[in-house]
Amino acid sequence: MSDYPNLLAPLDLGFTTLKNRVLMGSMHTGLEETKDWQRVARFYTERAEGGVALIVTGGMAPNKEGGVFPGAAGLFSDEDIANHKIVTDSVHAAGGKIAMQILHAGRYAYGKGCVSASAIKSPISPFAPTELDEEGIEKQISDMVTAATRAREAGYDGVEIMGSEGYFLNQFLVTHVNKRTDRWGGSYENRMRLPVEVVRRCREAVGEDFIIIFRLSMIDLIPNGSTHDEVVQLAQAVEAAGATIFNTGIGWHEARIPTIATSVPRAGFAWVTKKLMGKVDIPVITSNRINTPDVAEDVLSDGCADMVSMARPFLADSQFVAKAASGRGAEIAPCIACNQACLDHTFSGKLTSCLVNPRACSETELLITKATARKSIAIVGAGPAGLSTALTAEERGHNVTLFDGSDRIGGQLNYAKQVPGKEEFHTLIDWYETMVATSSITLKLGKRVTADELTGFDEVIIATGVKPRDPAIPGQDNAKVCSYIDILTGKVEAGDKVAVVGAGGIGFDVSEYLVHQGESTTLNRARWQEEWGIGDPEDQRGGLSPEGAQPEAPARLVTLLQRKNERLGRRLGKTTGWVHRAVLKMKDVEMIGGVNYESIDDSGLHISFGETRENPTLVEADTIVLCAGQLPERTLADALAAAGTPCHIIGGADVASELDAKRAINQGTRLAAAL
Ligand code: NAP
Ligand code: SF4
Repeated sequence: MSDYPNLLAPLDLGFTTLKNRVLMGSMHTGLEETKDWQRVARFYTERAEGGVALIVTGGMAPNKEGGVFPGAAGLFSDEDIANHKIVTDSVHAAGGKIAMQILHAGRYAYGKGCVSASAIKSPISPFAPTELDEEGIEKQISDMVTAATRAREAGYDGVEIMGSEGYFLNQFLVTHVNKRTDRWGGSYENRMRLPVEVVRRCREAVGEDFIIIFRLSMIDLIPNGSTHDEVVQLAQAVEAAGATIFNTGIGWHEARIPTIATSVPRAGFAWVTKKLMGKVDIPVITSNRINTPDVAEDVLSDGCADMVSMARPFLADSQFVAKAASGRGAEIAPCIACNQACLDHTFSGKLTSCLVNPRACSETELLITKATARKSIAIVGAGPAGLSTALTAEERGHNVTLFDGSDRIGGQLNYAKQVPGKEEFHTLIDWYETMVATSSITLKLGKRVTADELTGFDEVIIATGVKPRDPAIPGQDNAKVCSYIDILTGKVEAGDKVAVVGAGGIGFDVSEYLVHQGESTTLNRARWQEEWGIGDPEDQRGGLSPEGAQPEAPARLVTLLQRKNERLGRRLGKTTGWVHRAVLKMKDVEMIGGVNYESIDDSGLHISFGETRENPTLVEADTIVLCAGQLPERTLADALAAAGTPCHIIGGADVASELDAKRAINQGTRLAAAL
């Protein structure tokens, strides 16, 4: 029997059958906006070939006013329908099914002319919406119905109507945004009229044999959000109006509680979906932080849902289902929920990709083909850059030897995994270990290779990473000074008062590590919920606990410093930086910018402010941790240059500034694809 009997069981929808219980959730990739329809088709088709039962596209605007941003894609013309048909035909040819998401952003639309229930601006957009009148509401319904019928014409198997995450339909449901006194506002019956009407009219228009998924906000995580009883009341009305499946939405975008970040416990909200089970008769899908087949199987066998939705895991590995079904679950490239190449890109107007898999959304451009000539390739450094180069080169048929001075692979990932909330880095290193072990790569660990030993290879690749930058603070040879590596490897136990020099990604990580004590709350859902103030939506409106956030007391008094005179953490990930800042705030970390580091002595770190070095201040500290950024580690590259041996330099050894695993893996994969 399969390891995943629930996950791989078919789901009979009456007029059609889904081949398993896995839905690829909607993601805005930016691909549709490229208008390169072969590229869009290839992206979805690879996922269909990988065995996912049903794909939901990124959100398509039903009209101009409902688009997430000006120019957002939608089915507005016959040409659009023909283009989308390229995608649906290709997915069907691969044996897949695909539904189009209809996304009306309401007051989340990033542009003038946005509309909503009432003229109340959202905290995450500078644009105030116009309050719709009766005629305006009818137009929105009618445009959504038109989008559904056009989706059917374009060959889609169904639509997903976005009713969660604080978008347009969700905005009508809560008094937080809906202040109307007409038949679309006031009582809950009135407030839920719009989503029910949209589903009813869509069903009427598309006929019976067409999937309508309704994305239901099961926990709003905002003040004055819906209660669980209201969610159930809406669900039952939406079912009666003709929905085929419910998908779960968790939290409005304006909620100040993380819902998909890497520090969210795996399947951390499946318990919320479970509350709907048995209260409706159509299948229910759960979502959020489900990233392995084992987690998905557990969620289903616990009766939390009939199906699981995973979105980002299908960027990391298009073959997720096929690998799970063939007993190769350990070979699934894991989504580590970092958002670095997906959501951070989306919100910066860049095309989506994946830190772990740079081919995501570049399937027609980044081709990994068999090499015409088999080369012997030496790669020095088994961090993310070296590993991705080695695996890609080996996949292409090259003869690869991978060296590292350490006794384990992973490089800097081994430090990241020590940080509470970054446990997924263990998963990534485990995956690299599996993939190297199942490959023909010759792995030479504990081997500090010299330039002399690198002769005789066809290609030499230097991926030796980074070394910590020396901030050269007078007195830093004091015994209380150490590097972030000493802290994260446990070599140095910090004292009660700690000053952290440098507030980049690592300064933040180290501060989180230092204020934390005991088990990571990411591994303890109940504690994590308390920490963020998540309550039970059956008892509290919106699922916000009346006690608010209840963080544990900080393990140490930490002061985090930087020289730049700007908000600390401003350059962290666009969609996750706020989580890191909130954690440190909860733990009373003092954040000081605009400093000069004057000196270090037995009393602590002496700083001053501004160009005139005014306001001399002592930051009392038992331990001072240096996190002042990185420099390329090029000792070996320089020796090779001196010996006249040509080499490629990649990752941190190439450019250290703001190095991250995304750039390292992308660079390594692309180099290997071209060798
Ligand atoms: P970083 O992000 O470049 O930050 C370096 C910090 O050191 C800055 O705060 C900088 O601020 C300070 N600094 C630079 N030169 C200094 C000097 N001479 N003396 C004193 N301070 C100095 O580098 P990192 O923190 O080492 O992180 C490396 C990379 O790892 C990051 O860029 C990031 O991409 C990745 N990473 C990401 C995350 C994440 O959450 N996404 C987490 C960990 C690591 P001032 O110049 O203002 O003092
Ligand atoms: Fe997952 Fe990070 Fe890849 Fe996004 S970039 S899909 S969060 S691993």
